[in-house]
Amino acid sequence: MQRAVMVALALSLCVPHRARAWSGQTHRKLTSDALQSMRWIDRYGGLKVTPFASMVRDVLGPAPPVEPDAFRFWKAETREAKHRSYMRSTAAIEGPAVRKFARHLFLSNQLSLRYTLGERSRPVSARQVLTAYSAEPDWGMDKGLDASWHQTLMGGMNPAQTSSQGFRHMSFLLGAMGEAPRRAQLFFDLGARAINRGHAYWGFRFMAWGLHFVEDMGTPVHTNMLPTSKYIRLKGMVRPGGRLNRSFLGDLVRGSAQINANYHFLYEDYVDRAYAGGSEAARSLSAAVRGDGRPPGAFLGRLRRLLAPRSMKAVAKRRAWSRLSTPGIARNAVRLFTEKFRTPAPGAPSNTVRSVNPELVRRTVDTAGSRLVGESPRAYQRRMKARDTMMRRTQGQFRKTGVAVRRVMDLLRKKIR
Ligand SMILES: [Zn+2]
Repeated sequence: MQRAVMVALALSLCVPHRARAWSGQTHRKLTSDALQSMRWIDRYGGLKVTPFASMVRDVLGPAPPVEPDAFRFWKAETREAKHRSYMRSTAAIEGPAVRKFARHLFLSNQLSLRYTLGERSRPVSARQVLTAYSAEPDWGMDKGLDASWHQTLMGGMNPAQTSSQGFRHMSFLLGAMGEAPRRAQLFFDLGARAINRGHAYWGFRFMAWGLHFVEDMGTPVHTNMLPTSKYIRLKGMVRPGGRLNRSFLGDLVRGSAQINANYHFLYEDYVDRAYAGGSEAARSLSAAVRGDGRPPGAFLGRLRRLLAPRSMKAVAKRRAWSRLSTPGIARNAVRLFTEKFRTPAPGAPSNTVRSVNPELVRRTVDTAGSRLVGESPRAYQRRMKARDTMMRRTQGQFRKTGVAVRRVMDLLRKKIR
């Protein structure tokens, strides 16, 4: 018994760094809330799963085996070699149709298509498909790729880890790093084509994948490498005795990445939990995503329509940009969860970049709203104020995500013949 507990504890401490964003549940709820007012989607009911091989034949056709633009971020001299190793890795995928599909879209050999709605024995609606599968891009399709050096700053290079998922699901420096907006566009195009060629089920499933990337753009660390100076770890520049620490730069990068990861996990977990419950916080987040409240005046409405982005890529990019202006979320997360996660210490998440202590994250999130041991009433009040600001800004981000999701669905509607 005691040994089992020890083993479980050891395992819980070496869970790899998940390049996570919102939980699957948050993705599903975001999609469902955002689409609630779009009645036209309900015209697509009774969808049947067409065979995957026939879908690939009809949708990809004699398409080139690789997406031509897919290596844009890869260094020219290594491109060939990487492409060869990529082709070898997809050989592990079972079934020629799925293999062709994965190669065309540059998906990982960890791709496995699951059917969570029981749709192979009964028809489903587009709304169900969009909601359920907006979580799917986190199930493995983007993991374990060695795609770009950008990955070092976006979750790491280790192919056994989730690493490349960060690169795929993020967008930094106005789109110069990370692939999220381009991946969103890819799935939009594929989705529209599938619907128009008689594979509506798959079309909406691909569209759901696209929505995932737009939703990911609403979480701070996915669009901003360093949302606050609080994430910089300067400690250890000078060694005891006044000598300069030679490995300082490496320590700085690793330390800062760890601090970033710590607050990233805590923040996302906190919001996931707040959105899932039936609390007041959950209701206001839902209302924000649905876009409840006073509609804009006629002039403002016209202006917004005029300035609305005209492609899925542009929608995702704009979401990423508007995140740059809200470092307040990151700053207030540090205030709410306290400074202790800035110095990886015993009991804090492990100080290696790729691992984190999920039990500690859970405990910290659980107790964040109550007075901490030894905390003065004033300090507690300040912390709660930080929490309220963080959640208010999150609501603002959720509102924009709702608008973005509806915008891309409008674009899709125009594409469907
Ligand atoms: Zn994601």
